[in-house]
Amino acid sequence: MKQKEIRKVLVVNSGSSSLKYQLFDMKSETRLAKGLVERIGCGGPKDHAAALAQVVADLGDAAKGIDAIGHRILHGGEVFTDSALMTKANMAKAKKLVKFGPLHMPANLGGIEACEKIFKGVPNVGVFDTAFHIATMPDCAGMYAIDPKYYKKMGIRKYGFHGTSHKFITQAAAKFLKKPVSRVNLVTCHLGNGSSLAAIKNGGVVDTSMGLTPLAGMVMGTRCGDIDAAAVLAIMEAEKRTPAEMDTILNKKSGLLALAGSSDCRDICAKAEKGDKAAELALEMLAYRVALYIGAYNTVIGGADAIVMTGGIGENSKEVRERIIRRLGALGIKLDPKANQVRGELKVISARGSKIPVVIIPTNEELMIARDTVKVLSK
Ligand code: AMP
Repeated sequence: MKQKEIRKVLVVNSGSSSLKYQLFDMKSETRLAKGLVERIGCGGPKDHAAALAQVVADLGDAAKGIDAIGHRILHGGEVFTDSALMTKANMAKAKKLVKFGPLHMPANLGGIEACEKIFKGVPNVGVFDTAFHIATMPDCAGMYAIDPKYYKKMGIRKYGFHGTSHKFITQAAAKFLKKPVSRVNLVTCHLGNGSSLAAIKNGGVVDTSMGLTPLAGMVMGTRCGDIDAAAVLAIMEAEKRTPAEMDTILNKKSGLLALAGSSDCRDICAKAEKGDKAAELALEMLAYRVALYIGAYNTVIGGADAIVMTGGIGENSKEVRERIIRRLGALGIKLDPKANQVRGELKVISARGSKIPVVIIPTNEELMIARDTVKVLSK
């Protein structure tokens, strides 16, 4: 029997109180519609099924003939090393991973269950933010140097996040460099409100800066990134903080916000421009950490074909990019200040003589989810 063409794909990002969606025609990879339903369960639609009913109403005729739905899912643990059709068995496996994302996972999986009700018979594909990393990351990078019983009992290890974005820019960079994905070596930098870097060897991840949770690695909007675990214990002890309070401090009250009074990089750049010393230090800390990881990752992949930057900051902030690239002279990387004026488009911003090109590639996680949805259903 001839397989049905998967052409019209709805991409759903279901959060605890909001649901974002985009509708694609995958023949031309064009976006037909996008939207957001907010205040689910707190003044707006009563649950995710009601939110989806609103999406159907908003889409009108466009809601007809949807072939498949792709869902963003925060955590696939070690179970999901690729995107997967969310059968009953896979839903049961995913539900066991709720412990890794108690805020996001119930909403992500609730979105799938709501789609099963509203779009009867339409297949749902799960696209996991961790899968691109966990598929290929070796144990020497992925394990923590603590008693292995914590890995065996609790799954404590590095998983990494933003996988869908790193995968998208890896594929786009390979295309741009005219190399097969399976032969491309990159350092991919997703720099936004949340930030992560990945070391890509032969098209797969060998290391990434986020860990068990998205708290590790870069200095972020409100997250501290890398920190000595003993510092966390010292604060808990001194201020008699509970784990939940400490979680809020490290995830929501640290990073740029704690250092310079705003989590928004644009505010920090504007303050630094006016001579604000705290903002200046915050930007230098951010750029230093990114440069540090670029150097390390360039080493572990045996030399990058390109450094790729994306995300709100990577795509738009010439100031931050300049501060990062200024630190990469030892790798023979030089900035082209004129090219660096670019915002939100694919462009090489390194100078002609640069040993490694630095390329800005706007990410498109929703399109990546739609592509994976087609791929899973075409197998
Ligand atoms: P994202 O999480 O990828 O949406 O990125 C959000 C971050 O990108 C915020 O910190 C914004 O301040 C930052 N951003 C967006 N545009 C600019 C810009 N023109 N200059 C500096 N930062 C920017």
